Amino acid sequence: MEFATFADRAGTIDAEPADLEIVAHVRELLAEAGDDSEERRSSGAAVEPQTLEIVARFAQGRVFPAWDSTTLDIGPSACYEAIARAAGTNVSSDDVEDQLAEIGEIGDVAASYDFGGQQGLGAFTGGDADDSSGDSSGGLTVREVYDTLEDLAAAEGSGSQDRKVDLLFGLFNRCSSEEARYLARLVLSEMRIGVGEGTVRDAISAAFDVPEDRVERALQVSNDYGQVARIARDEGLEGLDAMDLAVGRPVQAMLAQAGTVTDALEEWAEAGVEWKYDGARVQLHHVPSADETRVFSRNMEEITDALPEVVEFAETHLEVPVILDGEVVAIDEDGAPLPFQEVLKRFRRKHDVARAREDVSVRPVFFDCLHADGEDLLAEPLTVRHDRLRSVLVDADSGPESVDDADIEGLSLLWRTGDPDEIESIDADALEAGHEGIMLKNPDSSYSPGRRGKHWRKRKPDVETLDCVVTGAEWGEGRRATFLGTFELSVRAGDDLETVGKVATGITDEKLAELTELLEPHIAAEEGQEVELEPEVVFEVGYEEIQSSPTYSSGYALRFPRFVGVRPDKDPEDADSLERLERLQSR
Ligand code: ATP
Repeated sequence: MEFATFADRAGTIDAEPADLEIVAHVRELLAEAGDDSEERRSSGAAVEPQTLEIVARFAQGRVFPAWDSTTLDIGPSACYEAIARAAGTNVSSDDVEDQLAEIGEIGDVAASYDFGGQQGLGAFTGGDADDSSGDSSGGLTVREVYDTLEDLAAAEGSGSQDRKVDLLFGLFNRCSSEEARYLARLVLSEMRIGVGEGTVRDAISAAFDVPEDRVERALQVSNDYGQVARIARDEGLEGLDAMDLAVGRPVQAMLAQAGTVTDALEEWAEAGVEWKYDGARVQLHHVPSADETRVFSRNMEEITDALPEVVEFAETHLEVPVILDGEVVAIDEDGAPLPFQEVLKRFRRKHDVARAREDVSVRPVFFDCLHADGEDLLAEPLTVRHDRLRSVLVDADSGPESVDDADIEGLSLLWRTGDPDEIESIDADALEAGHEGIMLKNPDSSYSPGRRGKHWRKRKPDVETLDCVVTGAEWGEGRRATFLGTFELSVRAGDDLETVGKVATGITDEKLAELTELLEPHIAAEEGQEVELEPEVVFEVGYEEIQSSPTYSSGYALRFPRFVGVRPDKDPEDADSLERLERLQSR
């Protein structure tokens, strides 16, 4: 396919506001790029098997597959220079930058120049039969653009930036203005023609007559739109269904929504509960027989060299090929977790890793297993995946049954419960251990790469609750004159209690009557409407934020506190501590 044809179709898509129409245009584009029929061959059109893969990526503004962390490694100024050189002797890269400042978009800037493709090489090659834009082009094909960009990405070492500019100049020099528009956008990752991942998925499905959900599955395991398009065309549904995860090729991470314990329990009856570790996401790929270990970040960037501890962990603990999902946590000398900022110091570090490791060491904790010993587990329920995780992590010598989960190194514990109190206490333990709180997961859910769905929920701070001792109240007014209201809340601080706020909202009159009955016997002193209470009753309260504040003796104030309920099962000694408040506040 000529690059001019691609540019022309990209222009049509760019101008199309309706999503469905965009899918239809992308479908046509893919069908055209993938058309290697006899008819097309005999018409003399250039047919190139890899073109379909390239076009499926180019349409999304990608040069390489999503799993491939290769980058062009070319900055905007190198691109401006290439454009300027191709535009002619009287144009400098400063002019290009000035134009950009004025016009605001690199595609429009590139398209505003006359390049060689317009009246140059195209005149000799007879132009492009497919080009309906009116420009005659330099005969550039999609494949040539890709091959050149691949060379450009591979250029490294001294003089490589000049070489990159030369290669890019060579391309612009053969471009018509419309080709230049989309080449510039592609090179600077600014394609923005409204073609998202869902669009390409639907277009592949329509172009090659395969169901969307099966295309989706193939995309999840391969992370490669080009490959999926090619297989859909060449092998159909059977080929798509046969696609598997590849150990060594990163998978998009499943993401979490914010959510509440109440919602989770309403929907699932039982929730999978895990600690939310305060670290950074890692995906570990390990093939023991090949001595191959690769570690990827949440964005599928390879970070193996930065995290030798994770590699060592894999080498000492894993005996079968696996893909594991987890978190890397920074730890102090006693193994206690350090704040997230400390992990960042290690995360993408390229130099002096050994020295950095002496300052801050890290350890991995895994919470999911996507592949184990030749078997893909994405479609399995969380509980099954966690069992596999346990079995791949358990020390082979000790026998899987005899080991307590808590003693398995690198294993994140998974509780399964429908009891909000148990969830509260897991949350409290997580915070106590210096982590962020908890994740709530649907125990029956499969692993959906790249999805931020309802099946994984991070507990929102604003729906977290605190158990506070009620240390004071105020008599109401008017209709509520016989009720206690506006309750003063305190938390434990050693043997003392310190105030953190007052709660007056979220309480019905009926409830106020009940609370008055409960609290009145504990009145220690009264002054006007103000009442001092013996610390006997514990309230569970929600809040939106904890702020530092001089108003209360703890030095903190709960913002928008809301009454959740009385905790008859708790004594003041069991109420939350100032320490927990401080930890929650510093999140
Ligand atoms: P977001 O994912 O919402 O863009 P984020 O990257 O800051 O934001 P959060 O949303 O706060 O992360 O929480 C999800 C992240 O929590 C995961 O990506 C993972 O890094 C981390 N995490 C820690 N413990 C777990 C766990 N047990 N299960 C899943 N994720 C966990």
